[in-house]
Amino acid sequence: MSSVRLPFRDGYYDVRPTKIVALAKNYAEHAREMGSEPPEEPIIFLKPPSALIGPGSSIILPRRSKRVDHEVELAVIMGKRAKNVPASKAFDYILGYTIILDITARDLQAEARKKGYPWTISKGFDTFAPIGPRVVDSRELDPSDLEIGLKVNGKIRQLGRTSQMIFKIPELIEYISHIMTLEPGDIIATGTPPGVGPLRHGDRIEAWIEGIGKMEFDVLAEDSILC
Ligand code: MG
Repeated sequence: MSSVRLPFRDGYYDVRPTKIVALAKNYAEHAREMGSEPPEEPIIFLKPPSALIGPGSSIILPRRSKRVDHEVELAVIMGKRAKNVPASKAFDYILGYTIILDITARDLQAEARKKGYPWTISKGFDTFAPIGPRVVDSRELDPSDLEIGLKVNGKIRQLGRTSQMIFKIPELIEYISHIMTLEPGDIIATGTPPGVGPLRHGDRIEAWIEGIGKMEFDVLAEDSILC
């Protein structure tokens, strides 16, 4: 998938990032459920843009993994090139906000960690970055304290507030932009609240963030798809 088209303002926005920068353990309760302490500085990793899918597509569980988890996150979409941006100016560089799922092959991640390898493959399969349902203009939404949640088959699995982020959006833009230039369209996935859990073939996911909306995705096993 090269790009995903989402409603934005009076028209559409083509989501076409050069990179997706994602935060690990940016909610204290999620860090604890993963068996670790909240980090002292942001922990970032990259997801490939090839993992993006939009509404109407399905999440595919790769046969290589036995345990694929959902993580619902607030996504920041950059509006301007950002290099060495101070936190105090960070909001000037944001185009808008949407919802992203940081789908994770938890077993492959654990295996990589144990061996001291990067956990790239666990985050990088095709369809592991569902996004939607629309992009909300940064001037129309204060992202600092929004309800964020996720249901699987109608049952609440994740529920939190963006105010529970350890490192807030301005600090994240400062931190990341001092390492790598953020280009217009780049996405920051700001971390997930607690309640991450496994997905199975046939599951239906609903994810929402207050002020942005709700998106829904089906989950299919790779073996169930004829190709
Ligand atoms: Mg995540």
